[in-house]
Amino acid sequence: MTYETTMTDSPLLQHWQRTKDKINDAKTQNHARQDVTLLAVSKTKPSEMIRELIHAGQRDFGENYLQEALEKINALAEYKAKDAITWHYIGHIQRNKTRDIAEHFDWVQTLERDIIAKRLNDQRPDALPPLQVLIQVNIDDEDSKSGCTPEALPELVAAVKDYERLRLRGLMIIPATDSTDAFVRTQALFDDIKARYPELTDWDTLSMGMSGDMQAAIAHGSTMVRVGSAIFGARD
Ligand SMILES: *Cc1c(COP(=O)(O)O)cnc(C)c1O
Repeated sequence: MTYETTMTDSPLLQHWQRTKDKINDAKTQNHARQDVTLLAVSKTKPSEMIRELIHAGQRDFGENYLQEALEKINALAEYKAKDAITWHYIGHIQRNKTRDIAEHFDWVQTLERDIIAKRLNDQRPDALPPLQVLIQVNIDDEDSKSGCTPEALPELVAAVKDYERLRLRGLMIIPATDSTDAFVRTQALFDDIKARYPELTDWDTLSMGMSGDMQAAIAHGSTMVRVGSAIFGARD
């Protein structure tokens, strides 16, 4: 069943539908062949908004702040039990918080060091499927940004790909201002790793593009856009 918005829909559902339309427009205009997943970034927003979107058919949600995320995951546990929601951790990973992340999330998009990968691998409960991971690349080499440097990426991939409780799926970036150039360079890195490590059979995810630049990101191969304010409204 596909959900269609109507005149009586809430602003939240209207903004969500508009975002999905923009994604589809970008795919059409660029003759994009990849599937593009919409990750709804719900940081600072209440569980009720997430619940409304789940009922409309949104599955993937991203959170940055662990304590806040754990409260929402708990409040929405019924959907997790029904396999109606996928939680992505997109915040900075502190070393002493890896257990909570490994136990409660489905994806982690901000992996940048092997020491953290090893902890997540060791702490991922056996009862759960492997944790899906993306390596965050500091594509513009900004001092202020998290992420592994492009130069260090092959070595980190080589380490992470062999952890049994992790499944390495691709790359994530948060570009500086000129995002188009960063998108082009990230797509090249993504293809380079794919060619270099043919054993990476699940290497299929390029997480780039946010509210302001999702269409440009899709034009350059993004398979997952992380959209917060365009769906939920501005954050305080
Ligand atoms: C907040 C955030 C987003 C969403 O940003 P918007 O501009 O509100 O769409 C995406 N990715 C990460 C890592 C974020 O922290």
